[in-house]
Amino acid sequence: MKYFFEEWEKLREALSDKFIFLFLDYDGTLTPLVDNPQDADLSLESRELLRRLKDNSRCKIAITSGRKLEDLKKRVGLEGVLYVGNHGLEIEGTKINFKSPLSLHYLKTLQEIKKDLGTNIISAVRGAFIEDKGLALTLHYRLVDKKDIPRLKDLFRQAMIAYMAKDKICLKDAKMAFEIRPPVRWDKGKVAIWLLARQHFMLQEKINIIPLYIGDDVTDEDAFKALKNKGITVRVDGGAGSSAKYFVKDTSEVFRLLEEIGKVLA
Ligand SMILES: [Mg+2]
Repeated sequence: MKYFFEEWEKLREALSDKFIFLFLDYDGTLTPLVDNPQDADLSLESRELLRRLKDNSRCKIAITSGRKLEDLKKRVGLEGVLYVGNHGLEIEGTKINFKSPLSLHYLKTLQEIKKDLGTNIISAVRGAFIEDKGLALTLHYRLVDKKDIPRLKDLFRQAMIAYMAKDKICLKDAKMAFEIRPPVRWDKGKVAIWLLARQHFMLQEKINIIPLYIGDDVTDEDAFKALKNKGITVRVDGGAGSSAKYFVKDTSEVFRLLEEIGKVLA
């Protein structure tokens, strides 16, 4: 991985006459990570910057998050942006309204699991909490004491094994969290490729589109891989072993990067 700003001069050239499709993760990318997901608010400056970018005719923005769609929309609060919630299970924006078809059976299983985790983990490991996102669950453990994390992981595996064996769910690692998702092959990478193809179709190939994906999470790695030879991928905080081509150090550098993109588009 290379430091983004070291390559910026070269990249700027490459972007100068292109249509830029920005894919932006929310937590840890547009907002600094906080202990409680409820407290992750978008700053005024960031919202204004995103507004300027999305109003540009050579730019499209998709906010891709593990959050519930409604929650994400409320937090970003901009129209004309594509919202990708629940890692792609829900997508909404101009001329698009997608919800992954999930069986009632799955949704029932999810509620069973929520109850199960409540009894076996939440009450047994201090600091662990569940976020119910409707179509998926997240078990957060960033507030759990370090020494209790191995025990939490053991308990979690034990609780999940029966569901896994029956292919009822799919588990994904996230940053200090576990994702319990439907057993479908649909992730941030596949979503990015799909949205990109859709944009190509809408622009009728009159202009070259370059996707620029910025994220900080394990779940963003699917997108880094999918976009490997198609565009610019940037990992925030440069996690070791990332498939992204570039990294920036923190969310303030994401802001700086987006400001530079604004200048290219001006
Ligand atoms: Mg993130």
